[in-house]
Amino acid sequence: MKAVFVGLCLFIAGGILADDGIPLESLLWRYGLEKNEDSRAQKITVVGEGINLTLALNMDIILFNGKAYLLRQAVQETSAGVVVSSEVEQLIASVGKIKVSAKPARRKKSKVVLDAGHGGKFPGAVQNGISEKDLNLAVAKIVRDILVAYGVEVVMTRTGDAELSENWSKDLDARVEISNRANADLFVSIHANSDERKDSSGSEVYIARESEDAGERVAKSIREAPTIVDRYGSLKSEKDLLERKILHRLLLEEKYRRSYVLANSIAEMLKKNPHDEFNKINDCGFRVVKWTRAPAVLVEMGYISNPQTAALFRKQDYQEFIAKLIADGILRYIEKCSVSGDFSDSGQVEEKLKEKSSDEKRVQPKEGQVASYNKEEEN
Ligand SMILES: [Zn+2]
Repeated sequence: MKAVFVGLCLFIAGGILADDGIPLESLLWRYGLEKNEDSRAQKITVVGEGINLTLALNMDIILFNGKAYLLRQAVQETSAGVVVSSEVEQLIASVGKIKVSAKPARRKKSKVVLDAGHGGKFPGAVQNGISEKDLNLAVAKIVRDILVAYGVEVVMTRTGDAELSENWSKDLDARVEISNRANADLFVSIHANSDERKDSSGSEVYIARESEDAGERVAKSIREAPTIVDRYGSLKSEKDLLERKILHRLLLEEKYRRSYVLANSIAEMLKKNPHDEFNKINDCGFRVVKWTRAPAVLVEMGYISNPQTAALFRKQDYQEFIAKLIADGILRYIEKCSVSGDFSDSGQVEEKLKEKSSDEKRVQPKEGQVASYNKEEEN
């Protein structure tokens, strides 16, 4: 199988002859899967243990466990119902084969980009004797050390007190650029909050949301798909353009879905902080989480404008405590995604089959990894 790597993991199977395919219903029965049809978006989602498959009707694009594949005649509507190609079945079967193996699957080292917010000429909030840029960096470095100890590859957007560009908006773009160039598995930006009201408190996690009109625009192009293909059947480029749009939409949806899972994982840990409440997961238009290709979250660790919270953050052991909560949230997300096969080395079936022979140790966040801040204080 010839694989071509384009952008965010698009694998093109070239030179493969089309086959008769398998009725989707047979596939569901054979592998104990469930389907969910979205007729408006002409989309079918198939889920099962370790399997998350999205099919766009009459398109050659499928999304399998977070990766997009361009397969010849991947899914077609026939008089006998929906039929998928044998390559789709091979992907599903490969997960089953890995599961049967007693040995754990080899996994790519997850790559996390940690972004300590602000820096250099951009201090962020300055409140109660704390400069946000310094606090963000101090916590980010502790998070990095924990993740590295658990076998995670970490890329920092900055390790010193420096801006990434003289220009504020270019500084933010540079952070996105680092993540995209590193082909990160996830991106976590670390910040501290500030408010005019001194009693504002609590931590928050932000993720970007796809705008309604953007989603609607792409959904419309999908509804019109059969017409366009019929009308311009001979013009391959029209279909290519459409497939790129669909691919883009599927990847965006997947990014937001994962960003939410990551946000939730970190939020669950922050809720364990007895010294400060967790407010909520918010949607936002922050550039660093919006334009990164990887699932992305921005953590606001707490309000340094609040004198009590600021007093906590001035202590090294509280910084360590918060860093451990964030790191544990990230590790739990990584573990969760690896279980569902999301971070496999490659989207190719051959690669997946090879993986079962390897027995490289998996990253396992230990129970009780989150130290108690109270305990540390007493000791
Ligand atoms: Zn900030």
